[in-house]
Amino acid sequence: MKASQEFTVAPGDLLPGRWFDGRSSQARPVLVGLQPTPRGPSLLLHPLAPPGEAPTVLRHAQVGWPETWSAQRPPPRVVVDLREHGSLEVDAVSEWQAALAAAGARPGLAQHMQTRWSVLLAVLLAAAIGLLLFYRYGTPWAATQLTRWVPMGWETAMADQGLQEMDDGLLKPSKLAPERQAQLRARFDALAQQIPPALHRYTHYAPQWTLEFRAGMGANAFALPGGRVVMTDGLVQAAARQGLGDEALVGVLAHEIGHVVHRHTTRMVVEQGVLQMGLGLALGDVSGILSTGSALLTGLHYRRSHEREADCFALGLMRHAALPTAPMGTLLLAIARDEDEDDKKQEKDGARSAPPGKHGSPEAAHPIWSLLSSHPDTVERASALQQGQAPHCPQ
Ligand SMILES: [Zn+2]
Repeated sequence: MKASQEFTVAPGDLLPGRWFDGRSSQARPVLVGLQPTPRGPSLLLHPLAPPGEAPTVLRHAQVGWPETWSAQRPPPRVVVDLREHGSLEVDAVSEWQAALAAAGARPGLAQHMQTRWSVLLAVLLAAAIGLLLFYRYGTPWAATQLTRWVPMGWETAMADQGLQEMDDGLLKPSKLAPERQAQLRARFDALAQQIPPALHRYTHYAPQWTLEFRAGMGANAFALPGGRVVMTDGLVQAAARQGLGDEALVGVLAHEIGHVVHRHTTRMVVEQGVLQMGLGLALGDVSGILSTGSALLTGLHYRRSHEREADCFALGLMRHAALPTAPMGTLLLAIARDEDEDDKKQEKDGARSAPPGKHGSPEAAHPIWSLLSSHPDTVERASALQQGQAPHCPQ
């Protein structure tokens, strides 16, 4: 019965053990057997005293099986939790392990993780990669799909509220002559009417196109969900300063129309919801900090990809309308240059106490969907617009 050094243990071999059955304070000497069953080994306890007592059989699920251990560091004895039947101690630890294996026990993933750091690391890595893929691809994809079901009324309400807040804040009424506004509005309306079906992103999505003018924000333009596009006096003046024709401004409008057609703002809002929901499911309640952080990180990426999408849309629409995009590229570069000079001048003036908004952080100065939100990419974007094509645009 005694196992050799090689632990040649056959199923049914018995190991001596001590059973604390919870009823008597004394340990009862038993012989322990492990029997293979389809659901994993069952445990047999043959009491040595009193003689003739029937063996106790515990199904696999009735036993709190101890964790396996690494071969280098065996425990002094095996302690088996028998739940309502007390506990069992076996001194022959190697034999126990061998008998358990012979009875068909397979170490579970949790046990692997206890004994093998490499497995634990692999599992952690897989979980991290899974979460990362979820942020990076899962949420934008889900948001893009869910956006189909966002009703127009929801978008216009969001746009009204957003513009109202900005009007209460940094935006001022436009000082542009009404005739000039009408002129640009006519170009905008004409452009919006000739969007070819190939450039549509969401079928049956029919924005109510309106162009509005505001001041108080520097040279900029932005799109609100539902079809409202806002252009600043500063942008119109910047184009004039550069001696650029209205094609430059029309190009900017095409870009903003692209944001509306792709429903970028709506997608970002839906994304935040998906992200928070997904994280809530994955992490329970500890997700607050994480989701905020990840939303910021991923938000940056989406924004950049949204700008590229809007640029590609502008290239496509302007080509369709037989208009050049190069003037828009020139305008973009000129504005970026002006802003850099403004920033430098401000640093020199030590304008740290400047009122927030006007000269605050770029985030504060521009709404997230503004023309210059991807400032670091301006040169790359401008050169693509000047060439009339970009490698990242679908053909
Ligand atoms: Zn944009």
